[in-house]
Amino acid sequence: MKRDIYAYRCRKCGHLHYPYRMVCAKCGENEHNEFDPEPLPKAGTLLTFTELYALPGDFEVPTLGLGIVELENGIRITGQLRIDEPASGMKVIGEVEVVRSEEYEKYYGMVFCEA
Ligand SMILES: [Zn+2]
Repeated sequence: MKRDIYAYRCRKCGHLHYPYRMVCAKCGENEHNEFDPEPLPKAGTLLTFTELYALPGDFEVPTLGLGIVELENGIRITGQLRIDEPASGMKVIGEVEVVRSEEYEKYYGMVFCEA
């Protein structure tokens, strides 16, 4: 099953938020949680990246490439990288997977490969 991560569009001014906010960052008038969820696009551009070691045990992998990706709609998201030699400006394509699991809960995130 394909999963999605959702951004939230303000019904009053159309501004798109990720992650979710209680009040619209643009018009500030949306106090009734009037947002429409909208799946984030999967394609984007890698802006910057780093490699993490010695992760806590609840991560699914021993080392982790983490990148900040600007998606097609301009939203920036932190995601896991599955790329041998990442480079800034590289086109990437993401998939939503379990990135971290605890005893009863699984956390989904975006994992990016070279496009
Ligand atoms: Zn708004």
